[in-house]
Amino acid sequence: MEPLTIRMDERDNVAIVANDGGLPAGTVFADGLTLVERVPQGHKVALVDLAAGDAVRRYNVVIGRAAKAIPKGSWVHERLLEMPAARSLDGLPIGTVKAPPLPPLEGHSFEGYRNADGSVGTRNILAITETVQCVAGVVEFAVERIKRELLPKYPNVDDVVGLAHGYGCGVAIDAPDAVVPIRTLRNITKNPNFGNEVMVVSLGCEKLQPERLLPPGTFAIVDERNVADVGATAEAALDVVCLQDDAHVGFLSMIQSIMTTAEEHLERLNARRRETVPASALVVGVQCGGSDAFSGVTANPAVGFCTDLLVRAGATVMFSEVTEVRDGIDQLTSRAATPEIADAMIREMAWYDAYLQRGSADRSANTTPGNKKGGLSNIVEKAMGSIVKSGSAPIAGVLSPGESLKDRGIERGLVYAATPASDFICGTLQVAAGMNLHVFTTGRGTPYGLAEVPVIKVATRSDLARRWHDLMDINAGRIADGDATIEDVGWELFRCMLDVASGRRRTWAEQWKLHNALVLFNPAPVT
Ligand code: CA
Repeated sequence: MEPLTIRMDERDNVAIVANDGGLPAGTVFADGLTLVERVPQGHKVALVDLAAGDAVRRYNVVIGRAAKAIPKGSWVHERLLEMPAARSLDGLPIGTVKAPPLPPLEGHSFEGYRNADGSVGTRNILAITETVQCVAGVVEFAVERIKRELLPKYPNVDDVVGLAHGYGCGVAIDAPDAVVPIRTLRNITKNPNFGNEVMVVSLGCEKLQPERLLPPGTFAIVDERNVADVGATAEAALDVVCLQDDAHVGFLSMIQSIMTTAEEHLERLNARRRETVPASALVVGVQCGGSDAFSGVTANPAVGFCTDLLVRAGATVMFSEVTEVRDGIDQLTSRAATPEIADAMIREMAWYDAYLQRGSADRSANTTPGNKKGGLSNIVEKAMGSIVKSGSAPIAGVLSPGESLKDRGIERGLVYAATPASDFICGTLQVAAGMNLHVFTTGRGTPYGLAEVPVIKVATRSDLARRWHDLMDINAGRIADGDATIEDVGWELFRCMLDVASGRRRTWAEQWKLHNALVLFNPAPVT
């Protein structure tokens, strides 16, 4: 491969080195630029002589100021950059970008499971809701036996999953912020991939009682069981197995109760069949993790193109990760469909600024050693590459952490779901929001996967896609190699989504059963 740099905008004064393994000092590019020192792959090279204090621009955004003079052809690494202050949340542009409406995209469908509440599942999974971490070991034991002894009798059911989490009585349950983990758990239970077949395992003495977690009326289940006699308790309608119940004598009696309850749900789930549904039934959550300088060049722009395809098809796409959009908040408020949506976005940013401040952290806490090794100098640069996942559509809705699309009455379009950038917390909150398909881009490489929702992983570099050939589902590195365009990879991802959603294709994380934990976002105190 010829020596190659990639510049994101013609006004940029740095570009990144595209070649595998980086390039040595003395390398001469086609335009005459000569490297004065070795520059690793994905790292920035100065295109002009920079004086101390000069603005360094990438994505036509100031990602920092030169800490000292940087001659043309030098490696511009994070120690040479002073990070600009965070954008104030006052005086932001509101709805100033009026993109021409995207033409509808018709004729695309997938095979999914229709639910009584109108949502559509991409998988047919029995989920066992847990009110408290205390029951997690018992549920895990029961799930193993259900998979071994019962699941083979119900071939239309894909899996059985215990919704284990770290929530316990230590959480100050009445603190205002405790609403976040509680509604997260409630909404996870309602994820479309679980077919509204709700069963709960409770300890008995926990603060978060089943009827507090899932109050009557939480579920619009059209099922004779739940149209139960007037006066039936929420618990009866909910199918709660309570471990401290007097009826349980010995551990195996608890396991038997869970298995008997599970079997009723398995029978109903097994009777379901996939039906052809329009692509508009997709609810896609996108996020990135283990990012590098190629994330914003290859994988995230391809995801952004695909996001536009999905929005055009009438689907819902959520992007998230507050600290990774905070530095581009002006780009987002300017794309808000209404002033109320811009206000909601600013409110989420302000809440998160205060949350970080409470912990004496700031936004520089984002960007890992791996990000920096991959060429991302700071959070400003990382954010610009992250936001492109959102494509170009107007932002049509905002969710607070743990809220679902249904909570906000959102039926389609591009949605900002505010979450931490942590892969596991972001994924968990997107499961709660109601996603039925997950797209994850990575440059450094992560084996991330979820038991609840299929995860399509997109590699930013061909080198990673080659080495992790049985972990990465899509190789966006072909864009940097010059072998494919952003549009090509965007369409490939779109078609892959329809195949995965239909169960025709299993992602690598599904094939290896790589399941990361659900991790609740709990901003409330723990006692
Ligand atoms: Ca992430």
